[in-house]
Amino acid sequence: MKIVMLGAPGAGKGTQADKIAEKYNIPHISTGDIFRSNIKAGTELGKKAKSFIDQGLLVPDEVTIGMLLDRIHEADCENGYILDGFPRTIPQAESLTAALKENGEAIDFALDVEVPDANIVNRMAGRRACLKCGATYHTEFAAPKKEGICDKCGSELVLRDDDKPETVQKRLEVYHEQTHPLIDYYKKKGVLHAIDGTLSMETVFKNIVDILGA
Ligand code: ADP
Ligand code: AMP
Repeated sequence: MKIVMLGAPGAGKGTQADKIAEKYNIPHISTGDIFRSNIKAGTELGKKAKSFIDQGLLVPDEVTIGMLLDRIHEADCENGYILDGFPRTIPQAESLTAALKENGEAIDFALDVEVPDANIVNRMAGRRACLKCGATYHTEFAAPKKEGICDKCGSELVLRDDDKPETVQKRLEVYHEQTHPLIDYYKKKGVLHAIDGTLSMETVFKNIVDILGA
């Protein structure tokens, strides 16, 4: 099963992708997480990506596409995967389609998690991230057991620099301009499913399972 998650930054893609990965036993691949771990490790890729991410811009396709295609050719992707944060541009989607087509494959489901812009800034301001293991929390809607500490690995939780309101506004603009057209792209391929992302995390997940099958 090959799935892509669409939706604005903060819509809940990562939250749902984690649950889907666990239930269907497929890897959760987040390009944002890959960039953040490269930044933390000080790699060349991380250096290239950082200034774009800090400004709320997309990392250029030349960097992102190759990185993602390498990842989906790893052994754990044999039975499928869930992509979170990729594709984010039409050229990214076209490259993915072409790479899959070489093996007679295609994306099976594109899940568009819909949340109005008005709710997004709040969601992002309350998001707390573990930069070590990638887990995500929310101060109001999904608080960790101990404030500021990751339940899963015990590391410190942070407010991501790019989750500050001024950067979120830019990320939303970029989303509408460059990523929103992907909804139409996957609709034309007949694999698009719209999900109401304003509901509780449990209800959103239940609605997704209804689509993917139990
Ligand atoms: P994305 O991966 O789309 O950027 P996240 O999954 O990180 O978004 O979610 C953004 C923030 O909103 C996180 O702090 C998360 O805990 C919270 N969140 C996710 N889904 C919901 C929901 N259905 N209701 C309320 N808060 C949510
Ligand atoms: P995310 O964790 O998905 O919110 O991504 C954080 C940031 O990483 C984005 O705002 C972009 O700067 C960058 N990024 C992640 N995925 C992509 C992608 N597919 N294309 C370009 N930039 C990306």
